[in-house]
Amino acid sequence: MSSRSGSVGGGGSSGGGSSAGGGAAVPLAVLLRREVASERTAPERPELHSGLFSQAKKGEDFTFLKPECERLPGVPSSSFSAFGLFDGHNGNGAAIYTKENLLNNILSAVPADLNREDWLAALPRALVAAFVKTDKDFQTKARSSGTTVTFVIIDGSVVTVASVGDSRCVLEAEGAIYHLSSDHRFDASKEEVDRVTESGGDVGRLNVVGGAEIGPLRCWPGGLCLSRSIGDQDVGEFIVPVPLVKQVKLSTAGGRLIIASDGVWDALSPEVAFNCSRELPPEPAAEQIVKTAVQSKGLRDDTTCIVVDIIADKTHSSMPLPKKQPGIGVFKNMFCKKKSSDSSSHSDREYMDPDIVEEIFEDGCALLSRRLDSEYPVRNMFKLFICAICQVELKPNQGISVHEDSSQPGSLRRWDGPFLCQSCQEKKEAMEGKRHSRDSSRNSGSSE
Ligand SMILES: [Zn+2]
Repeated sequence: MSSRSGSVGGGGSSGGGSSAGGGAAVPLAVLLRREVASERTAPERPELHSGLFSQAKKGEDFTFLKPECERLPGVPSSSFSAFGLFDGHNGNGAAIYTKENLLNNILSAVPADLNREDWLAALPRALVAAFVKTDKDFQTKARSSGTTVTFVIIDGSVVTVASVGDSRCVLEAEGAIYHLSSDHRFDASKEEVDRVTESGGDVGRLNVVGGAEIGPLRCWPGGLCLSRSIGDQDVGEFIVPVPLVKQVKLSTAGGRLIIASDGVWDALSPEVAFNCSRELPPEPAAEQIVKTAVQSKGLRDDTTCIVVDIIADKTHSSMPLPKKQPGIGVFKNMFCKKKSSDSSSHSDREYMDPDIVEEIFEDGCALLSRRLDSEYPVRNMFKLFICAICQVELKPNQGISVHEDSSQPGSLRRWDGPFLCQSCQEKKEAMEGKRHSRDSSRNSGSSE
């Protein structure tokens, strides 16, 4: 199955296999060639403006705004922008650790010498490796606390979003709204409930006296209602850090991104968030969104919002921009309807003109054997003797194929890369419920 095809726009899409779409995605190379052809005389990069506003209740929301990053220090053509939101729980350790380390882990998972096309194509895999490495490294620091992560990388008009947990990134472009992030709540995905249950977790609602079940689906013990996060080692390693990754290319008309924690989304729909802040610059827009959310529900949770405007390429502004239509009630899909019974509650989207916002990539599968593997055009980016997750050098014969499965000896493709070090292989199997990591075995009653 190609990991480069699929459909974008599933607000609740989160589980494995959600990207097994119809193969309508436009290859990145084609898009970039088209971009070069049509913009030969134009500045390549749209302008970005960003703003942030937050009202704290518990002090566990953290943000990362870095509009000026360079992959290759001193090389302006390697510049990109990064934005992150981390909504912590059970303490702020995981949120702070992730904020401080994630971008470095992403960059170290991509070879430095890639051209722009290859860097953008490598990003989805690098994001998966970096999320898992950050989670694994954090486990050596603390057992408790976890965080949602919504991490956005903008390079030119290509927007790449990786997410675990229930903070959200939504895009408004050309009058339509697109969900670019996950909604990793047990309530949003039967697939995720099944995955966690099969890996040894216990998912159910809170039982009150009298036997009534109340509230959202949660994982017990602990009562976490997220199925994926960074941290949460004390809950169980089946709460995996493998992100949903979506990558889209905006048209020259640009767009607006809202990245916000559930304090906003529990109170406001994306339509209301965009509408209440329309025409405002990013910072006042973020403030307006947070205040509208707090007015509607009270300050019940940390409520944080980042707004990023990706400004239209002015050389194209002689073409009249389509008028935005406030209050569109239907989330539109970009190419094709979602197949089958995925978790999306917005499955009846309309077919949409692919010249507007073009999908490049979507995958939310929890399996590393799929997410780290690829038909990637520069397949050898995972050098044979470097662990695909932690990037440690492997001696010959030390690497374990990401396809190796100790519960099924003799599994196919065990000699195929990419390869993992012993410790990352143990992490992978713990995430899949096939073993318990060394220091969680003492409080775990089951198996092996
Ligand atoms: Zn490793």
